[in-house]
Amino acid sequence: MHYSGLRLLREALTGNRGWKPAWRDPVPRREYDVIIIGGGGHGLATAYYLAKVHGITNVAVVERGPIGLGNTGRNTTIVRSNYLLPQNHNFFEWSLKLWEGLEQDINFNAMVSQRGVLNLFHNEGGRNAAARRGNAMRLDGIDAELLDREQVRAMCPLVDVDNGRFPVMGALLQRRGGTARHDAVAWGFARAADARGVDIIQHCEVLGIDVVDGRVRGVQTSRGPIRANKIGLAVAGNTSRLAQMAGVDVPIESHVLQAFVSEAVKPLVDQVITFGAGHFYVSQSDKGGLVFGGGLDGWNTYAQRGNLPVVDHVWAAGIALIPALSRLRGLRQWGGVMDMSFDGSPIISTTPVAGLYMTAGWCYGGFKATPGSGWCHAWTIANDAPHKLNEAHRLDRFRTGHLLDERGNGPFPWLQ
Ligand SMILES: Cc1cc2nc3c(=O)[nH]c(=O)nc-3n(C[C@H](O)[C@H](O)[C@H](O)COP(=O)(O)OP(=O)(O)OC[C@H]3O[C@@H](n4cnc5c(N)ncnc54)[C@H](O)[C@@H]3O)c2cc1C
Repeated sequence: MHYSGLRLLREALTGNRGWKPAWRDPVPRREYDVIIIGGGGHGLATAYYLAKVHGITNVAVVERGPIGLGNTGRNTTIVRSNYLLPQNHNFFEWSLKLWEGLEQDINFNAMVSQRGVLNLFHNEGGRNAAARRGNAMRLDGIDAELLDREQVRAMCPLVDVDNGRFPVMGALLQRRGGTARHDAVAWGFARAADARGVDIIQHCEVLGIDVVDGRVRGVQTSRGPIRANKIGLAVAGNTSRLAQMAGVDVPIESHVLQAFVSEAVKPLVDQVITFGAGHFYVSQSDKGGLVFGGGLDGWNTYAQRGNLPVVDHVWAAGIALIPALSRLRGLRQWGGVMDMSFDGSPIISTTPVAGLYMTAGWCYGGFKATPGSGWCHAWTIANDAPHKLNEAHRLDRFRTGHLLDERGNGPFPWLQ
């Protein structure tokens, strides 16, 4: 069924009786060409691009709960490509380009909003780092602008540019950055993949991965065994657990990251703004709530809830940046389990087990990667080798020493 204005009108006039479920609820078959484990944005996008770009449609996405309730439905929805390292910004730029045409491609309103992302800086060191990152981006044809303090003041009147402790000196702006509606991204990819023949199997937990003679043969699930000679992992914070089922150790730690939403107010914050002197960033949802977050809680966990010290830090940093925030009540707060890699960059790769692939290690930043990750993961699965865009994101870089230490933090996942 094609969604359009005309369809809306027709359904409105005929009692909305023509709508069909956006995807089927199939019984798992005994065998598929490819099984994707994880029905978040990355798994669903992988299945979609396998079908669309490579013509591989005998594919199942197996998800232990309903689709999109992992990090995909828990994130703060920022999309951007403002990375320093060419291997990263070229990959994220490809993802941003896919975002720009995504809604037409999958015929679904994902509410992609290119409202601009500003990274504020508050001292000379911050300005040098921002200028260096912006120049690196521009050398590869990616948009970046360095704003001074008065330009920030004019653009974001609510920001306390003259704050006594953290005066704002300027910002790195990427105008094409912005936000998208996270649930809609999962639903849109699911619907588009289903339309091309992919089986989306919800409430089906993978309990084991069958490996015979160094090659995957299938999975054991809560709904019985399913055979496949190719398996892609897209399970975010559960990557190390799932990889271990196939005997593969991955350099990924699981940490909780929290997010917050305030009560709804009229338009206050027009862009995405990140604070440069503490862990805080903010945007405003179309419903009116300010959506904001900060850094990791700081110890390993699989709990999808957070701890009070981070709540305290995020609100304090937020109020330092936007004093008006102190007048708003918090509406909701939650956590998601992050797949923190040891160099802070993602892994889209083959593995030492033949037929096993993964897209993982997304740290704080995997939502913006959703289409790009799915596209490159699908390519890697179809060709049994990485695309040029994800060649540097191989798993074996941690063995060979070719790390992508985007933030120069070294091998400390909780700092990335
Ligand atoms: C609070 C917060 C804020 C964030 N903000 C941003 C942001 O602003 N911008 C950005 O780019 N990124 C952000 N991120 C990161 C981003 O959300 C993730 O990197 C991205 O959504 C991961 O998508 P995914 O599909 O890999 O994972 P998920 O959506 O978590 O999907 C993985 C799925 O695997 C399933 N699964 C796990 N184990 C099994 C099993 N054994 N069998 C079957 N299924 C299984 C899970 O149920 C889950 O649905 C944020 C994350 C959090 C938590």
